[in-house]
Amino acid sequence: MDFGYSGRVAVVTGGSSGIGLATAKILLAEGARVAICGRDEARLAAASAALPGALAVQCDVLDRAAVSHFAAVVSEWSGGRLDLLVNNAGQGRVSTFASTSDDDWRAELELKFFSQIHVIHAFKPMLERSDAAAIVGVNSLLAVQPEPHMVCTSAARAGVQSLLKSLATEFAPGIRVNSILLGLVDSGQWQRRFAAREDQSQSRADWYGALARGKHIPLARLGEPEEPARAIAFLGSPAASYITGASLEVSGGVSRHI
Ligand code: NDP
Repeated sequence: MDFGYSGRVAVVTGGSSGIGLATAKILLAEGARVAICGRDEARLAAASAALPGALAVQCDVLDRAAVSHFAAVVSEWSGGRLDLLVNNAGQGRVSTFASTSDDDWRAELELKFFSQIHVIHAFKPMLERSDAAAIVGVNSLLAVQPEPHMVCTSAARAGVQSLLKSLATEFAPGIRVNSILLGLVDSGQWQRRFAAREDQSQSRADWYGALARGKHIPLARLGEPEEPARAIAFLGSPAASYITGASLEVSGGVSRHI
């Protein structure tokens, strides 16, 4: 199937690692021009080397001025063209209600909401000029299936899901807005948790195997970054032209709702 990316332009926030990097690679392979951002310069340089022809800009998506600058640089580079915005930058926070301070709540709500809001404000004028504009928000299954040990991430994720649903209506018919609901995907954040594991003698295979069993994942493993990346590439493409306001779960079957 032709996704229809040839000659199109895509922005992937957090494109320097994990799911964002895998998404950028697929979009490039499908013929799109791709711009990514991230905060860490070294990580961005390594990603840039793996993405020939892509534009890589250092930018914290929580810094509104930096995001405006990122949009200006992309506009200059693409001649004002943008067809797809993938809002992927971010990370989760492990904490219960008892261990989450007011400042933690504020930081988490700011990260989850403004990693969408700042970026959408900055890039919407460019998307409005596309004949096949799309936004894909990378969200988590926690939005609909909260976990008490990730209380503030779960609450924020639910709010973001509501935001994206509203935008799908407000931005129609010009810009489609969809989301991905992730389960557990083996990317930067899980690699960091593995590195910090309690029992340092535990092998990678044993640690990941125990994690998948403990989470009762029917497909019996974590996802690879390329697996959600393919779903993002589909939802963001002209091939998904009649899909908006939808959420696609990429979780190995771990959700319990119908
Ligand atoms: P990674 O840590 O591998 O990638 C995260 C990317 O986001 C990096 O490029 C990172 O670069 C960037 N980033 C983080 N914060 C910011 C920021 N404020 N501004 C700009 N860039 C930022 O993790 P994943 O690939 O797993 O994560 C992708 C998304 O998926 C995240 O939003 C994550 O919360 C979400 N998710 C992941 C799950 C999983 O199991 N992997 C489960 C549920 C949701 P840098 O740090 O250099 O800025």
